[in-house]
Amino acid sequence: MAALKLDNLTKQFPGGFRAVDGLSLEVADGELMVLVGPSGCGKTTTLRMIAGLERPTAGSVCIAGRNVDDLAPKDRDVAMVFQNHVLYPHLNVAGNLAFGLKLRRTNKDEIRRRVREVADVLGIEELLHRRPGQLSGGEVQRVALGRAIVRRPGLFLFDEPLSNLDAGLRSQMRREIRRLHARLGTAMAYVTHDQTEAMTLGQRIAVLCDGRLQQVADPATLYARPANRFVASLIGSPAMNFFDGWVERHEGKLSFASVATVSFAADGTASQRQAERFRLPIPAEWTSRLEPYIDRPVTLGVRPEHIGPSPAEPSVVIPRIPAVVEVVEPLGAETYVHLNTGSQSFVSRMGPGCGLTVGEQVETAVAVAHLHFFDPQTEQTVG
Ligand code: ATP
Repeated sequence: MAALKLDNLTKQFPGGFRAVDGLSLEVADGELMVLVGPSGCGKTTTLRMIAGLERPTAGSVCIAGRNVDDLAPKDRDVAMVFQNHVLYPHLNVAGNLAFGLKLRRTNKDEIRRRVREVADVLGIEELLHRRPGQLSGGEVQRVALGRAIVRRPGLFLFDEPLSNLDAGLRSQMRREIRRLHARLGTAMAYVTHDQTEAMTLGQRIAVLCDGRLQQVADPATLYARPANRFVASLIGSPAMNFFDGWVERHEGKLSFASVATVSFAADGTASQRQAERFRLPIPAEWTSRLEPYIDRPVTLGVRPEHIGPSPAEPSVVIPRIPAVVEVVEPLGAETYVHLNTGSQSFVSRMGPGCGLTVGEQVETAVAVAHLHFFDPQTEQTVG
């Protein structure tokens, strides 16, 4: 039985704006599902509908097999952790942890036992007697987590709980949440706009754009086989490079011819193209999928690790995209090199000490085994 099932969930705010549009999604028992998407794509609205804080315009929410559409938030057996979690300032940490249980008239011994257990799980025993004003940002979020855990809900909802923390603390808290998830075995729906957070936390990731579900998959699948250009550009850092171009057939073999600009005619064919910059042979396994695009425009996608002056897999590269080095960003373990073909910019992920200088002319190579192709009009992955 699914821990959470959203069926065609829709929220239209007064004034007509659709923040969530026909969202269907299942979170399996014990699963950690991350909902990721840019600001305003409807993540918080979705969580609020699950928690019962917002009424859907259409569709339904089932939690642990039970339709909860007519249940008040307190009866849904969910606990929510927010970005700006507010603790009761007049209560110490132990009092904050116990607060919800007291409201539910849990007996005193049971409360004491559960508070100690949660403090142990989160490693905050030494904070129990402090007031919220005496806690760091990371400690506040840990107590906020504790307040959710102590209730032992059937489902956790997280709304960007780590956004206010610095980068180091964020990655530490991510590991803690994973550890907690493994220990508690309770399903979690976790919202973030940060793709790194989504990739490192989620067992599966649901990608949202403009209130609509784009793809649901495990992190490796999202990265290797994005359903469309939006997912391809959201997942991965630096983002995937895109090149406008054209599919051509020559002596039975397909190739991609890059163009500077493509204009579309009303029937979807390209009416105009400008100066070809480079040409890439397309591996045979793409032939059937790309046949409909012969003499038509297509968008090529290449991840930064699959393009550059010396990409990782020399055996499968076709050298020959002339480019100029524009910016070199050394990050220690790797270097991001920003290049320009004369009409299109792209970024290459290289090793440390890449030895390139700004303004240098280079011949870049592409690992053709890792190409992605998108329909320029629908932006869906070809195939
Ligand atoms: P963020 O990451 O910035 O929090 P989000 O993906 O969580 O964004 P939501 O907060 O769900 O997005 O908001 C989705 C859209 O709905 C936004 O454009 C927002 O302005 C709009 N919206 C949210 N609440 C209301 C409301 N009560 N009335 C009208 N529009 C709203």
